[in-house]
Amino acid sequence: MDISLKRRLLHLLYPTRCPVCGEVIRPKEHFCGRCREELRPFTGEFPIEGAEGFAAAFEYDEKVSPAVFLLKNGVCGNAAFALGGALAERLRTTSAQNSHVIVPVPLHKEALRERGLDQSLLIAREVGRILGIPVAEAVEKTTETLPQKTLSKAERQVNLCGAFTVSRPEAFAGKRVLLVDDVCTTGSTLAELTQVLKDAGAAAVYCCACCKTPITEDRGENDDGTR
Ligand SMILES: [Zn+2]
Repeated sequence: MDISLKRRLLHLLYPTRCPVCGEVIRPKEHFCGRCREELRPFTGEFPIEGAEGFAAAFEYDEKVSPAVFLLKNGVCGNAAFALGGALAERLRTTSAQNSHVIVPVPLHKEALRERGLDQSLLIAREVGRILGIPVAEAVEKTTETLPQKTLSKAERQVNLCGAFTVSRPEAFAGKRVLLVDDVCTTGSTLAELTQVLKDAGAAAVYCCACCKTPITEDRGENDDGTR
């Protein structure tokens, strides 16, 4: 069924709500007008080692955080639609729109079992639907890792080393890959996956996330955690 028809029908039973404030909105809207104005677009530079570029839809702050919470917990179906749609709009202004395939940052299967949904995959599918790029779940997270933001720069590299395994190299070998995450904090997960994809034959990797946490909080520190 056509997605806009499906959304209009669903709206009759379950009115579409703004994933930030809960106000009822039209089925094709991402956010209500007020929230849309108050959300802060991410316009900064954030280089990811080895990647061609990085883009995010929003700065991560307390305003957008309810939508991210709903996305991660699967409470509101509109969160993936809204955040994925906003990210696709942002990517249209970058070279990422010329990617051949989208790869979502994978979740470890234990984390997936606990959470019940894979938020990066939901975002990847929405971005792929809008930009007309196929999604390939080509990489698995085979080792459970500690949250990257709790670690120093040196610990982050060790924590992720060997955590990802390429399951379908034929899906992206020789192609331009768009790597999609929900929230980017330190960038170390995207950097590690960029290397894994390129080692397995990706021609280029462009990284993106719905939200980017403030750069001053997680960049520029030395290996011992001091700035
Ligand atoms: Zn709102």
